[in-house]
Amino acid sequence: MKLTPEIVSPLLDWYRRYGRPLPWRESATPYHVWISEIMLQQTRIEAALPYYRRFLEAFPTVADLAGADDDRLMKLWEGLGYYSRARNLKKAAERVMSDFGGSLPRSAEALRTLPGIGDYTAGAIASIAYGLPAPAVDGNVLRVLSRLTADERDVLREGVKREATAALREIYPTSPEDAAAMTQALMELGEVVCIPNGAPHCDACPLRTLCEGRRLGIAERLPTRAKKPERTKEKRTVLLLFHGRTVALSRRGEDGLLSGMWEFPSRDGHLTESEVEAALRAEGLTPVAIASGPRGKHVFSHREWHLTTYLVTLASPPVGYVTATVEELADTYALPSAFRVPLAAVRERLEAL
Ligand code: SF4
Repeated sequence: MKLTPEIVSPLLDWYRRYGRPLPWRESATPYHVWISEIMLQQTRIEAALPYYRRFLEAFPTVADLAGADDDRLMKLWEGLGYYSRARNLKKAAERVMSDFGGSLPRSAEALRTLPGIGDYTAGAIASIAYGLPAPAVDGNVLRVLSRLTADERDVLREGVKREATAALREIYPTSPEDAAAMTQALMELGEVVCIPNGAPHCDACPLRTLCEGRRLGIAERLPTRAKKPERTKEKRTVLLLFHGRTVALSRRGEDGLLSGMWEFPSRDGHLTESEVEAALRAEGLTPVAIASGPRGKHVFSHREWHLTTYLVTLASPPVGYVTATVEELADTYALPSAFRVPLAAVRERLEAL
C-alpha cells in the first residue's frame, strides 16, 4: 500500500474546519484520550458520551482510577459491554502509578506495554495527546485507506494493517499539532464521510480528487473482508430467586466471558419447571412458587445467548448467594446488558411489592 503525501494538507484543512467538537478533543490530555479511545472501541460516539462524562466525574485522574472500587467501576461501565476494557483500564492505571510516576508514558512502544493498550490506542494517545508522528490504524482508518488506494485485499489480514501503518508513517506530519490533527482527521473522515455499510459521501470528501477507489467506481464495495464464522448459539435458563424484597446474585468466574461480573444464577440449556425445582432442591433451596418469565436473546461478537427465565419464590434466604434489593441493583451491582430482559422482570416484580 502506497500513500501520496498530497493527502495530508487537504485532510488537515478539512478536519480543522469540520471536525466535531468532542470533549476529549477539547481537552486532549493523555488520560482523556486514553479513556475516550478505550470507550469508543465497539461503542458509538453518541452512546459513549454520557459514559465518558460520568467516568471522568468519578475518576478525574489516573490516581483516582488506580484506586477505584471494582464494583463502582463496573457500575459506571454497565451497559457499555466488553467489560474487560474497564478492568484493564484499572490495571493499566495501577501500572502507570507504580512504574511511570503517575503519567502515561510518552512513546507508543511504552504505552503498548500497558494492559488493554494495543497498537491503535498507543498510536492514538502518542499522536493526539503527545503530538508524535504515530499513526493509529483501526477498522475505520483501514476502510478509508483501502478505498483511497483501491486496495482490494482482505483488511482483516494482519499484514495489510502493518502495511497501512507503515505507509501512513511515511507521510505523517512531524509538527505536534499536525500529527495530532492527522490522527483525528483520519478517524473523523471514516466516521462521517467515508462511512461503512453503504455509499461513502465522496462529494463531501476532501480527498475525492486523489481517491483511486472513487475513480475506479469500486469504493462502495471496499474494504474486502473475509466472511466471519457463524456465531455459536447457546441456550441458558436464568433463575430469578426472590426472597422478600431481594433477588439472588452470583459473581461469574475470573476467566472467560463477562468474567468477574455480577449475574443472576443460570444453568446451561432450557430447563423445564420441574428441572428447575429439582436443581434448586439439590442446592438445598426450597422453592415455594415457580413461574416462567420472559425470554430474551443477547448477541455477543462470537456467540448468542437464548435465555429463558423463571421467577422463583424461596422459603428462606438463598445460602451461597448475594442478595440485592431493587435500589442496590440500581446503585451498587453492575449487571451486563446480556441480562437486560431478566433484570426488567426483576425490577417489575420487586417494585410491585
Ligand atoms: Fe472515501 Fe469517497 Fe473520500 Fe474516497 S473519495 S476516501 S471513497 S469518501
